[in-house]
Amino acid sequence: MAIDMQRFMREFEEFIECESPSSDPGALARSAELLARIGTDLLGVAPRIVTVEGCPHVLWRFGEGPRTAVLIGHHDTVWPLGTIRRLPFSDVEGIVRGPGADDMKGGVLIALHALAALQERGESLDGVSLLVTGDEELGSLSSRALIEAEAEGARAALVFESGGEDGSVKIARKGVAIYELEVRGRASHAGVEPEKGINATTEVAHQVLSIAQLGSRRAGTSVVPTVLHSGTTTNTVPARARVGIDSRATEVSEQMRVDAALRALRPVHPSARLLLRGGINRAPLEPRQSMSLYGQAQRIAGRLGHPPLRSIAVGGGSDGNFTAGIGVPTLDGLGTVGGGSHADSEHAVKAWIPRRIELVRDLVSELKG
Ligand SMILES: [Zn+2]
Repeated sequence: MAIDMQRFMREFEEFIECESPSSDPGALARSAELLARIGTDLLGVAPRIVTVEGCPHVLWRFGEGPRTAVLIGHHDTVWPLGTIRRLPFSDVEGIVRGPGADDMKGGVLIALHALAALQERGESLDGVSLLVTGDEELGSLSSRALIEAEAEGARAALVFESGGEDGSVKIARKGVAIYELEVRGRASHAGVEPEKGINATTEVAHQVLSIAQLGSRRAGTSVVPTVLHSGTTTNTVPARARVGIDSRATEVSEQMRVDAALRALRPVHPSARLLLRGGINRAPLEPRQSMSLYGQAQRIAGRLGHPPLRSIAVGGGSDGNFTAGIGVPTLDGLGTVGGGSHADSEHAVKAWIPRRIELVRDLVSELKG
């Protein structure tokens, strides 16, 4: 059955133009409503909008009982309101652009169209769920429990983040941990009596160098000090400093090692104090959790006459890390094929859209059987 690309592109344009930055509840509510309308028109079934801590997540659940395939996407983007004026929707020479084109409004529409194609073929969607969350780009704090509850015991979780530039799917993702280390010192006049202060800038400098040593290239673990703030005015010994830390690892044991090492940091100045906030956000998605699904998807792609389906491992986390973390076989990167996520060059390649819809349609069909 032919995929209606004209319809897809109309929906794609409308969905991209309805901007949805993760931290704007009003914009997310509009985006959830639009998504619900597009999906209801396609599937004939209205979703449940589950609002957690002000953030709207959109859930279609077909039938009761255990889940066979749980499809996971997000409708929030990293782009602030008004980006659409600077980077408007465009569809030129087979390339679709606009905020969220590749991450991941196109992916969400691929999931919806794949399910609609199954219905059109007369297949029941009983046992299938599609969950589209609203806070993935912030670390899925309000949606994590929902994702895990929906995926619990499922045969497979399919994640609609974008694929690699050659159409590859993602079979491994590093686990992510996010921290902030606060240094508390004591302020004093930097000119009159600097010796009475406890300098948070000096202290945080020591800490930053220790933190930067904690990674392991051999194990594929990165520990990167990022945002840094300290002090108030040039003539004041700083009383407070903060440094953000981004850590990624391919194995749980490495995540634990870094976590323990950060918690063991001690101040160099005996009177300074350190406070560590944050922790492990996402466990790694390890290749063994994707392999059999990947093999299945490869066979389907072959049968459909698509180019050979390849796989890649990436550093960034996704909601697939959560489903893998509770032991559900997970395949990621089933969304649009494109590039430039979180950058002005964000784009999706139109020619891959029908292929992805077919691939997901047949994969879900097999998983149900
Ligand atoms: Zn994404």
